[in-house]
Amino acid sequence: MIDFHCHLDLFPDYQRVVDDCMGANIYILAVTTTPSAWRGTRKLVCASRRIRVALGLHPELAHRRESELGLFEEHLRDAQYVGEVGLDGSKHLHSSQDAQLRVFRSVLWLTQRAGGRVMSIHSRHAVDPVLDLLKAHDAGIPVLHWFSGSKTQLKRAADMGCWFSVGPAMLRSRKGRDLVSAMPRERVLTETDGPFTRLGGKPLLPFDVSRAVPELGAIWGEAEHLVEARLIDSFKRLLRLAADCREGSRSVA
Ligand code: MN
Repeated sequence: MIDFHCHLDLFPDYQRVVDDCMGANIYILAVTTTPSAWRGTRKLVCASRRIRVALGLHPELAHRRESELGLFEEHLRDAQYVGEVGLDGSKHLHSSQDAQLRVFRSVLWLTQRAGGRVMSIHSRHAVDPVLDLLKAHDAGIPVLHWFSGSKTQLKRAADMGCWFSVGPAMLRSRKGRDLVSAMPRERVLTETDGPFTRLGGKPLLPFDVSRAVPELGAIWGEAEHLVEARLIDSFKRLLRLAADCREGSRSVA
């Protein structure tokens, strides 16, 4: 199982969640929302080789944490992954648009300068500006998390080489399933976005990512074991691309 976008450090009982994950056959990208959370989250998971921590600065916090860009730059040397970063065009965040743009631009510029990274990207109500900025930088491999734009925007993202991470909550809606059916299936990974995402009243745990498999099987017309094999293949390919980034030889997006 792969949970490529999970806020492990934000579970109230995170140590128990981490311990449970250690014994399970699950790979996790633990995204962070601020650079100051990165080091602590790394310590939390240091014993697991299957949990990787991404360095992030969430768009919803951009206006309050812009001052942490220096820390982002400092940690980036040691961070193999970047996320959660991006833009959020929701109405209630209207007043922070300028700060969001400054922060995301800086994040992409710093990441490009560091040789590029695999990045978990938030693009709610902001797909076009996110893609514009990705295009203007050579910052590595974008994985658009919980994509919720239009089919036209999806095509644009796919044509740019973007990957996608999709989860059980997204697959519950007709719109979500329609979008997933239009994604290049060799560039789709699974995610939960827990604990922010709830299903049946409970926050999604990393293992709940398995609930996406039957849905993907229905969309792709594939048996579940083939879906699982495909997801693992894609994940391994992405890990190789991530390694290429670190060696400075990447070229996607
Ligand atoms: Mn998230």
